[in-house]
Amino acid sequence: MFSYLSYLAALIASLVLAIYAFTKRELTETGTVAAIMAGATVFAFGGWVWFALMFFFFVSSSAFTHYKEKAKKKVAREFDKGGVRDFWQVAANGLAPAGCALLYALNPSPAFFAAFAAAVAAVNADTWATELGVLAESKPRLLTTLRRVPKGTSGAVSSLGLGVALGGSLFVALSAASLAWLNNYFAPLLAASPLAQLFPVQPAAGLAFVLVVTVAGVTGSLVDSILGALVQRMHWCPKCRKLTEREVHTCGTRTEFRQGLRWVDNDVVNFLSAVAAAATAVGLTAAL
Ligand SMILES: [Zn+2]
Repeated sequence: MFSYLSYLAALIASLVLAIYAFTKRELTETGTVAAIMAGATVFAFGGWVWFALMFFFFVSSSAFTHYKEKAKKKVAREFDKGGVRDFWQVAANGLAPAGCALLYALNPSPAFFAAFAAAVAAVNADTWATELGVLAESKPRLLTTLRRVPKGTSGAVSSLGLGVALGGSLFVALSAASLAWLNNYFAPLLAASPLAQLFPVQPAAGLAFVLVVTVAGVTGSLVDSILGALVQRMHWCPKCRKLTEREVHTCGTRTEFRQGLRWVDNDVVNFLSAVAAAATAVGLTAAL
C-alpha cells in the first residue's frame, strides 16, 4: 500500500511546512527538526489525511497563541516557555500521534486512527484552552482542590477553558472524519493511476468515531489538568512570593523548587495526556 512516492511526499511536505513555520518564528531550530520528524512519520505511515490533521492543529494553535497577545501579556504568565515552540514542546505534542501512526502501519486497525485523532484532539484542546482560558474574566480553579488560583496556573480549569477544550476536541474529531470521507470519496477515481499511492484508503469515520475522539480528547485534557496540579514541577519566587514554572522568574529572580516531581515539566504532562487520550480512544472503539 505504501511506496517511495508517498515517503517522498511525506518528506517534502514536512520540510516545506516546518521551514515555513521556522521563518515565521513559530518554531526554534530544534523545534523545526522535531516537526519534520513528526510530520514525515505521520504522513508516511498514515497518509496525507493524518498529516493534514496535524497541520490543522498547528495552524489553529499558532493563531490562538497570537490572538489578543497584548491582553495575555498583562496576565503575568508563569509558564516556563513562550510562543516559539522548541524541540521538547513539539515532541510533547507530536510523539503520541507519531506513535499511533507507527502502530497503524503495523496493524491498520480503525482503533489506531481513532487513537491518533484523539491524541491530536487532546493536545489541541489543551493548547486552545491554555491560550483562550487565560482570557477568562474569573479566576480558574484547581481540579484537585477546587480552590481558586491565579490565571495561567498549570492544572487550573475555568468553565471557559473547559468549553474551549470541548470545542478544540470536537474540531479535530470533525476534521478527521471529513478528511477521511473526502479521501475515500476521491481515492477510487485515482485507483488506476500511480498517484493512488498518495491516497491510501482511510478507516470509515462516522458519528461513533466523532464521539469517541471528542470524549477521548476531553479526557486527555482533564488528565493534563490533574497531572498539572498533582505532579508537575513548580518553583517559588521568593521576591514576588508566587508559584511559577520558571527557573528564573519574569522579575529576574532565581526560583526555588517547591512541589511536584522534578522530571515532570509541562512537556511531560502534555505527552502523558496525549497518551491517555489515545488509550481512551482504543478502549472506547473496542467497547462500541
Ligand atoms: Zn519574581
